[in-house]
Amino acid sequence: MRPLVGAKTQQLISRVFTPVSPVRWRAAQTRRSCGSSPNGEKPRPSMLRHLTSKIKATGPISVAEYMREVLTNPVTGYYVRNNMLGPDGDFITSPEISQIFGELLGVWILSEWMGGGRPKQLQLVELGPGKGSLASDVLRVFSQLRSVLGEASVSLHLVEVSPVLSRLQAQNLTGNYSQEAGAEDEPIYRRGETTTGLPVSWYRCLDDVPAGFSIFLAHEFFDALPIHKFQRTEKGWREVMVDIDPETPDRLRFVVTPSPTLASSTLVQADERRDHVEVCAEGGVIIQQLARRISEDGGAALIADYGHDGTKTDTFRGFKGHQLHDVLVSPGSADLTADVDFSYLRRMAAGGVVCLGPVTQRTFLKNMGIDTRLQVLLRNCADPSTRKQLISSYDMLTNPAKMGERFHFFSLLPAPLPVAGFSELSFS
Ligand code: SAH
Repeated sequence: MRPLVGAKTQQLISRVFTPVSPVRWRAAQTRRSCGSSPNGEKPRPSMLRHLTSKIKATGPISVAEYMREVLTNPVTGYYVRNNMLGPDGDFITSPEISQIFGELLGVWILSEWMGGGRPKQLQLVELGPGKGSLASDVLRVFSQLRSVLGEASVSLHLVEVSPVLSRLQAQNLTGNYSQEAGAEDEPIYRRGETTTGLPVSWYRCLDDVPAGFSIFLAHEFFDALPIHKFQRTEKGWREVMVDIDPETPDRLRFVVTPSPTLASSTLVQADERRDHVEVCAEGGVIIQQLARRISEDGGAALIADYGHDGTKTDTFRGFKGHQLHDVLVSPGSADLTADVDFSYLRRMAAGGVVCLGPVTQRTFLKNMGIDTRLQVLLRNCADPSTRKQLISSYDMLTNPAKMGERFHFFSLLPAPLPVAGFSELSFS
């Protein structure tokens, strides 16, 4: 353990790191000031104290480290402690809005499994499954279309960092048929059987999921992964860090580093044209793992999230009680998120797989037959309030002004086999 630095070192740190000026980083200021900046709000002592001790000990921390600590610190992290999804939580997601969403994804999965040659084993792997609603809707489609799956053996694999949410997922998917692992360091920390009789396992990271033909789902997962932030300055690219505000010791502020950091030297593209960029290196690593698995074992990945194709600048924001929330206020009490840069994911996926999209959620769901599915459900439903709810959730998912154009779908699929003459002739 390092000793805490003294007041002199503190002053030095404050001097060498430049506070982010309103002119140089206007977007961040605007975004922060449009939050429901809860001035009277009490800070959460434990997370704030943890962060300020860390900064006092080692200096300002990167935005990526800040986000990782705030969201997934094993003791005080936002995801680790909370159930944040739904009308009473901080935000609501498409699978929570309508069962149709998960059902259409279930059909997509079956169609990719058929396209992959109907392998005998099908692993459904979900990253960040929230309450388990998406997996549950997908599995309902699997049992309704059991005859299509034939003899294939299906298993469910959930990658989830939050013990609170994993318990909720277990309850929703298995009823009481799941058990926690005896030892804390087991790669599978919980296992059970779904209500439809399929084996289900929980992991903390993707690395621990067994190899094999898999369909990977990641809905609103990549936006929760830590981002680095970089600012173009007269002296070149510099990294944005989080520091203690010297004027108010229990407040945090953004600063930019006086010289390049390892991250600013390696993560910003040489031909970058924007003045401010966010790079989710952790998301890049996960995409590379998915690409390798898909090219070696077959399968596909479907990633759905809000995002852009390498055009946006500052998108880092907080959500609390369905309102925007200042990312530096009361850390650990609100969700932190940043738009997914699909152009970065495509670059990191590289060869071995082909990338499709991003296409808007509206386009994807319409192509998957959401209008027909809605008509079928309406035809079988006489209750006026359920009908109203079906129509309004359809509107929420597809309306361009609501979730229809803010959310995008992106997919990784195995690259087609090389064709002799267009690549080198080889016999395998
Ligand atoms: N997919 C769900 C939940 C989205 S919220 C839905 O759309 O409703 C983000 C989810 O990712 C939560 O389940 C959260 O606990 C999980 N998560 C966040 N960071 C993670 C990480 N680094 N590793 C694994 N799971 C993570």
